Amino acid sequence: MEKLTATEMAKATEEAAPVEIGPTDLLPRLKDNGYDAERVGRRRAWVENKTGTELPHIGGQTWDPELTRGNIENPIGVAQVPLGVAGPVLIHGQNANGLFYVPMATTEGALLRSYERGMVALTKSGGVQTAVLADENQTAPAFHFDDVRTAAAFPAWIESKLPELREVVGATTRHGVLTGLRCYQTGRQVIVNFGFRTGDAQGMNMIVRATDAVCRWVQANYSIANYFLFSGLCGEKRASGFLMTRGKGKRVTAGALLRHDVLRLYLHVTADQMFRVWQSTVVGNFQAGSVGYHGHAANGLTAIFIATGQDVANVVNSSCAMTVFEPHPDGLYVSTTLSALSVATVGGGTGLPTPREALGIMDCVGTGKAGKLAEIVAAAILGGEISMGAAISSGEFVGAHERYGRNRPT
Ligand code: NAP
Repeated sequence: MEKLTATEMAKATEEAAPVEIGPTDLLPRLKDNGYDAERVGRRRAWVENKTGTELPHIGGQTWDPELTRGNIENPIGVAQVPLGVAGPVLIHGQNANGLFYVPMATTEGALLRSYERGMVALTKSGGVQTAVLADENQTAPAFHFDDVRTAAAFPAWIESKLPELREVVGATTRHGVLTGLRCYQTGRQVIVNFGFRTGDAQGMNMIVRATDAVCRWVQANYSIANYFLFSGLCGEKRASGFLMTRGKGKRVTAGALLRHDVLRLYLHVTADQMFRVWQSTVVGNFQAGSVGYHGHAANGLTAIFIATGQDVANVVNSSCAMTVFEPHPDGLYVSTTLSALSVATVGGGTGLPTPREALGIMDCVGTGKAGKLAEIVAAAILGGEISMGAAISSGEFVGAHERYGRNRPT
């Protein structure tokens, strides 16, 4: 490594010196944390003044900012993201049945047109079958012991205490249910992966609160050296191989037979061309060490999550997915399986005015609708997968983006 001269060292030190901030640099502390329209406006004016900007569109909120208490701190307005719809997609599911139009919020041109094309092709082929295969969120605290032998005795003990743990959980939530647990010992540490049903909520606040109570109960009833609430195993907002098989949230699958005539007319490809692209990109993804295999699930997931008030960071775990194209005598059988989909119709941001309206477009507002939303999401993602595959197969990918997806500054 090249050595720095004394002058360069002094300059580098000066540049790295901590920046002094005074009381006037800190955001104003407003009464009751400032969620009413007047205080939100005052905070925004403070930012405008401090940064020499004007923020009329951020301030262009049409609904009461008080509703965002519990969703954001230091509010100054809203980020307005363009919102469109794609569809129709015909679904024959366990929870979703009929024709659906899917709200999507994005700034990526060509995205909705592409999803729309895929959804219409699926519909013209007779529709998509969907199923929720598993529904269980999870948390995984780590328990620490003095040595390997004491750690090894713990799994049998905690498994025998499931009834008591269910009672502890039941005291923290009305809708959350502890479904089971599985232990993973490494040296003198044991990670316990707890599974929960969370109703129509995504459930992380619910089950982390429940797990905290469980950990405290364990500490009071068993000799452990220490514990940490999070171990990293559960895969919240992180992609992992564990999620591909174990899942998290909803494991949901969507499949359809794309007929030869539909492939030709609506997607401008043959089944053979589509299969070859799929096979070629499997090789590429394998070399890249990708988690799962899909074309661009994160695109549709992000747009639907923003539109419907999901926690957008859950796109990371939700895009642990597998898309498969299989040759079929009548065309091409296509499927997408999302093994760790985090979607909710209750809680989080889903009750805010615009997400609620967007969920309403799909009749997915509130209690009893989370499974339906999961199936619609899976069908929509499948639409995006086949449309992208077709665009690459037919050489139309760049042309479509030139037509719909450019916003060059003049
Ligand atoms: P929440 O908005 O904190 O709570 C939703 C609550 O709604 C549930 O706890 C439940 O109360 C109640 N509820 C009413 N009807 C329900 C129904 N039909 N099904 C299920 N619950 C119903 O939402 P959350 O889902 O627990 O948490 C999601 C939020 O957690 C997201 O916004 C995310 O950003 C955030 N998050 C938190 C953590 C964390 O570590 N704490 C991590 C990642 C994300 P009861 O519990 O009394 O039944």
